[in-house]
Amino acid sequence: MQVTYCAAVPLLLLDLDNTLIDRTGAFRAWAGRFLAEAGAPEYDVDWLLDVDADGMTDRWDVAEAIRDRYNLRVSIVDLVDELFEGLIENTRFDPMVGAALRIAEDAGWVPVIVTNGAVRTQEAKIRRTGLDRFVADWVISEEVDCRKPNPRIFEIAAERARLRLRGAWMIGDSPEADIGGAAGLGLPSVWIRRGREWSERRFAPTKAVNGVIQAVAAVMSLSHSVR
Ligand SMILES: [Mg+2]
Repeated sequence: MQVTYCAAVPLLLLDLDNTLIDRTGAFRAWAGRFLAEAGAPEYDVDWLLDVDADGMTDRWDVAEAIRDRYNLRVSIVDLVDELFEGLIENTRFDPMVGAALRIAEDAGWVPVIVTNGAVRTQEAKIRRTGLDRFVADWVISEEVDCRKPNPRIFEIAAERARLRLRGAWMIGDSPEADIGGAAGLGLPSVWIRRGREWSERRFAPTKAVNGVIQAVAAVMSLSHSVR
């Protein structure tokens, strides 16, 4: 039997929000404290989560909606700042996720974050949590002026790591941005379910799992058969 080894170093592309870090948990933690201070009912947290839409709503619009709902005498600028600080302060990086990234690195993978968002926010999350010590690099959409699922952002990630996209895997929670992005490039991917069912018909992840640690394990075990 002839065994051929793949000498290329593989890229492990990872989404940030609700993949490497629990963004929803951080926002929820901030929202709980904010509502208590504003004297608003606890159940309003669902309203806040709706308005935030996993960070997809413009921060200025979120601030304005909050100010209007609670009749706050605060400037929108200050409220945007409060949203920023509140989110960063409550962002945690699970050491077990760090351990999974180390195992992947030891197995020859090069982890690079590919995230849609603002440079200020995403960099603060990566650096202040210590996540920067566990990845080779990161690409933030605002900085490169293109967003996932645009193939260009994944190509930039590969360029930064000085690696080819061939053999790369993508891990993320967004069907469109992460899994669609990988599919557009013909790359295999692992989708983080977050309690959802896969419903997109145009493409599908190679595997669906419940969390990023399982996702990294899946990449390491499946990559041999896919490559
Ligand atoms: Mg995400």
